[in-house]
Amino acid sequence: MKRILILGSTGSIGTQTLDVVRSLPDRLRVVGLSAHSNSALLRHQSAEFGVPIEHAVLGEEYELEHLCRTVEADTVVVSVAGAVGIRATAAALETGKDVALATKEVLVAAGEIVMALAKKHNRRIYPIDSEHSAIFQCLAGNSERAVSRILITGSGGPFRESSWEQLQRATLSEALHHPTWPNMGKKITIDSATLMNKGLEMIEAKWLFDLNREQIEVIIHPQSIVHSMVQFIDGSLIAQLGPPDMRLPIAYALLYPDRADVGVPPLDLIQYAKPLTFESPDLNRFPCLRLAQEALAIGGTMPAVLNGANEAAVGAFLEGSIPFYRIPAILQTVMDAHTSTNHPTLDNISQSDLWARNEVMALQSIDLTHANN
Ligand code: MG
Repeated sequence: MKRILILGSTGSIGTQTLDVVRSLPDRLRVVGLSAHSNSALLRHQSAEFGVPIEHAVLGEEYELEHLCRTVEADTVVVSVAGAVGIRATAAALETGKDVALATKEVLVAAGEIVMALAKKHNRRIYPIDSEHSAIFQCLAGNSERAVSRILITGSGGPFRESSWEQLQRATLSEALHHPTWPNMGKKITIDSATLMNKGLEMIEAKWLFDLNREQIEVIIHPQSIVHSMVQFIDGSLIAQLGPPDMRLPIAYALLYPDRADVGVPPLDLIQYAKPLTFESPDLNRFPCLRLAQEALAIGGTMPAVLNGANEAAVGAFLEGSIPFYRIPAILQTVMDAHTSTNHPTLDNISQSDLWARNEVMALQSIDLTHANN
């Protein structure tokens, strides 16, 4: 019986993790829960799964960290929204727990520190992000030196076929309409529309799989059936395929190296009967992907700045404070104003993150002033 603590239990990944637990009651037991604001659902979840009320908390950064330090668990599922999960992830590793990671922002902003902590405490980080779960599965049984490169697939989002002019007029409801993955959180759905999600996944992959920039590529695959691929030095490609359903990578992360039927209908390629296609991403129409590649190349605190600025800019877009097309322009301005610090501490990362968010707020108010004049 594996004891799991779920951070972000009322969100999209959190509720799907609880679905997985419901289908595997003999193998998984929930011992702790946290939510950002949905106290009614949190109370309901703690009653259903028998979690003591003191281990079902509503909170932010420090409450999550405290929960990770005090609850006895085998694995912490980190599925909160953004860099707020960094200190909790570190606390989980420091107290001897494995991490099943859905919150890619943790590795984007603090990958060097988090991976070093996992190594120091002899713990593992199992990816829940579907692309990284796919790569993890493709790597199984192969030697590290046989890997040539990885290919991270992405649907291309709702604006894959939009012209540059159409992107200038993109609305919130268009951006929130993801073509293949149902019921994702709003932040990741907007990141999918800008392709920032693929950029963040490149940085996440660098840390998870110890790769350099030249070994990580993004390839657009609109059907979202191939979840990513690994190419080996003999030229062979190994791909992982499945229906777009997050319960599969969640279960794999929790049961590794085992698997279980969690109620997802098996992929039937004959019945699917559509071609699987692949194309290159367009960095001109989707500059966020290029900015993430730049941050990856620069390293240090630059990815934390990119991530903090992106979280703030996406928040501003969701509130209607800035138009869609301003997101990459704002990120570019913030990155240009930052001088990266190499081998950052957690405090360096928090400071860079906060600085970037404040810069976005300042730029956003300039936007509003212009709009009102
Ligand atoms: Mg993903």
